[in-house]
Amino acid sequence: MKIAFIGLGIMGKPMAKNLLKAGYELRVYDRNAATLEEMKAAGATICSCSAETAEGVDLVITMLPNSPHVKSVMLEHDKLAEKMPKTATFIDCSSINPVASREIAAKLAEYGIDMLDAPVSGGQPKAVDGTLAFMVGGKEEVFNKFKPVLEAMGSSVVLCGDVGAGNVTKLCNQTIVAVNIAALAEALQMGQMCGVEPEKIFEAIKGGLAGSTVMNAKAPMMMDQNFQPGFRIDLHIKDLTNVQDAAKAVDAPIPLTQMVLEMMKILHHDGDGACDHSALLKYYQKLTGEVLHH
Ligand code: NAD
Repeated sequence: MKIAFIGLGIMGKPMAKNLLKAGYELRVYDRNAATLEEMKAAGATICSCSAETAEGVDLVITMLPNSPHVKSVMLEHDKLAEKMPKTATFIDCSSINPVASREIAAKLAEYGIDMLDAPVSGGQPKAVDGTLAFMVGGKEEVFNKFKPVLEAMGSSVVLCGDVGAGNVTKLCNQTIVAVNIAALAEALQMGQMCGVEPEKIFEAIKGGLAGSTVMNAKAPMMMDQNFQPGFRIDLHIKDLTNVQDAAKAVDAPIPLTQMVLEMMKILHHDGDGACDHSALLKYYQKLTGEVLHH
């Protein structure tokens, strides 16, 4: 199977490498020339623009930052929808607004092209290991046909519903993660201010009901003041803004998401947008003037 892969950043590059390892033929493009050189060394065919990747492929995959980037590549600037073979399928792995996913799918349907939206969870380490969790939207027969491709990049691949359902599920994931991190930061800071070592709080509660994957990953980072991304605050602002848009369209109440989004925006304006989302702790540290320690 010949695959076009566009967007070779933190996530896209290791995902594309896993497709090469699984034996798929890859035509790739990214605006960043250094990444392209690395992909050439890994065995991919390098293209000079997005449109060129589409030549003779069975599948186009994108892993781009947000809705406008995917629309630009597929419909507006590069117009892959016009240029890709009409027998090919489109899978968007980017985390974008589900409303945009449905708009893109509707446009592609005019050309007879099927689409799956297939955002991921797991971050860079799981992208490298090929153990991402895919949440997918689209027709069941299209999902079944391309499931093995996604399984070359992930260990969990779940069909959540029609097109857009993948990104709705991803938005749920992003709300749960954001609110969890904020609760963790708030609790550790409050606990320390009340005189208990954060390390002891973590040790004592991580095996109970409050324990979580978020706690295990982010509490040590907070105590080390290590805010290397990981997942950047700015990307999480993008996701929570998409939650806001999606919720507004159906009048869903999202008070917790709104609050954490405001905290993240304050951090962004303070110059912390490129930090890992565990830097939500900084919001509390700046308010209290007290730094969390081990
Ligand atoms: P990134 O910024 O590292 O990569 C995006 C890539 O797209 C860049 O290399 C950029 O040069 C390229 N690009 C942008 N516009 C382009 C265009 N028009 N044509 C060609 N290339 C273009 O971002 P990332 O961290 O890889 O994230 C990609 C998506 O995956 C985002 O939607 C993000 O929210 C999601 N995601 C990220 C993580 C994570 O931990 N980083 C985890 C899960 C999901």
